Amino acid sequence: MHYTGLIEKYRDRLPVAAGTRPVSLNEGGTPLIELVNLPRLIGKRVRIFAKFEGLNPTGSFKDRGMTMAVTKAVEAGARAIICASTGNTSAAAAAYAARAGIACFVLIPEGKIALGKLAQAMMHGSVVIQIRGNFDDGMRLVQEIAKTMPVSIVNSINPFRLQGQKTIAFEVIEALGDAPDYHALPVGNAGNITAHWIGYSEAVCQNTLACALCEGRCGHHRTKIATRRPIMLGYQAAGAAPLLRGRPVENPETVATAIRIGNPVSWQQAVAAQRESGGWFGECADEEILRVQKLLAQAEGIFCEPASAASVAGLIQDLNAGRVKEGSTIACTLTGHGLKDPDTAIAQCEAPVTVAAERGAIERVIRENLNI
Ligand SMILES: *Cc1c(COP(=O)(O)O)cnc(C)c1O
Repeated sequence: MHYTGLIEKYRDRLPVAAGTRPVSLNEGGTPLIELVNLPRLIGKRVRIFAKFEGLNPTGSFKDRGMTMAVTKAVEAGARAIICASTGNTSAAAAAYAARAGIACFVLIPEGKIALGKLAQAMMHGSVVIQIRGNFDDGMRLVQEIAKTMPVSIVNSINPFRLQGQKTIAFEVIEALGDAPDYHALPVGNAGNITAHWIGYSEAVCQNTLACALCEGRCGHHRTKIATRRPIMLGYQAAGAAPLLRGRPVENPETVATAIRIGNPVSWQQAVAAQRESGGWFGECADEEILRVQKLLAQAEGIFCEPASAASVAGLIQDLNAGRVKEGSTIACTLTGHGLKDPDTAIAQCEAPVTVAAERGAIERVIRENLNI
C-alpha cells in the first residue's frame, strides 16, 4: 500500500474522526538506523539506533505534530495559524499551511535561526516576523495574540501537536519488536519528550476503562504493542538547561539553536516522563554537541543538526559514567537534518583545497591524504 502519512497509518490511535481529511506530506515512517561504528569507537558493548527524523518532509520531527495541528485547525475552520519558533516549527507550519491553503505567521528570534529553516519559512510563503527577543518572548506573545486575533496556535501547547509526535514511539517499537531499554533525545521546549512518553505509555496500555498507565490520556488506541516502556533520557545544552537548574534560564545560549529555550512550555510533563520512566536529564557543552555531530557525520554517514546530536552526546557521557548499562539497546532521536544549519557545519570543517585544473595537482592531493 502507498504510504500516505502518519494520520492514515495511525488513525485508530489518534484523535481524528472517520471523515477527517488529513493535511499531509507523507511525514513519519523515518528509518531507525543502527549505529554500526560508534559503539566500537567509544569502546562500549551496546546497540544504538538512530531514529533519523531529519528525513521528514521539511527535515525535522516537527512535521509529525504539524500534520495533526493543521488538519485539526482546518477541520475547525481556521484560516490562519501562528507559532513562535526556533526555526523548525516555522518551517513545518509554513509548509503545511501552504498545503492547506491557509495563512501562516511565524515569530522567530532575530538573527538566531539557522539559515535553512529561515529559507523554508520564507519560501513556503509564510509571514516571517523577526522579534528582537528570544523564543520564550515569542511564545509568550503568541499566546497573547491568539486571544485577540483570528489565528490558531500550532506550538506544542496545541495538544494535537503532541498527539502527532507520539507516533515516533510506535514506529520505534515496530522496528525493534518492543520498546528499547533507553530512549535518548534533546529537550528544548520539552514537547517532544512528553510526546514520546505518551506514545510509549499508550503502546503498553490495553485500553481498559481505568488505565493506570496513561490515566485516561489514551482512548484512541486498540491493542497493546509493547511489553514495557523505556527509561527516558533528556539532554539539554549547558547554556540552556532550565530542567537541570530547576528554574527558568533568563538568557539561554547555545550553538544548538533548536534547543535554545529557557522556559519550556511542557516542563511539568517532561519531569513526569523522566520520573515515571526512571530516567534523568543531563546537559552537554556546546563543544561536545559539535564534536558528536561531526562524529555521526564522519563515522556513521548521518548528518543531523547540532541540537539532534545532543541525544548521542549525552548518551556517550552517561555510558562513560556507567549510568547507562552496557548490553543495553538504546534509541536516540535525531530530531533534524544537518542541512538545516550549513553555517555551523562549514565553520567546523577545514576549507576545501583549491588547486589548478590539472591532473598532477589533484594526484598530489590524493597522495598527501592517503600518505603514499
Ligand atoms: C524542536 C526541536 C527540538 C526540541 O524539541 P522540544 O519538543 O522543543 O523539546 C530539538 N531538536 C530539533 C532539531 C528541533 O527542531
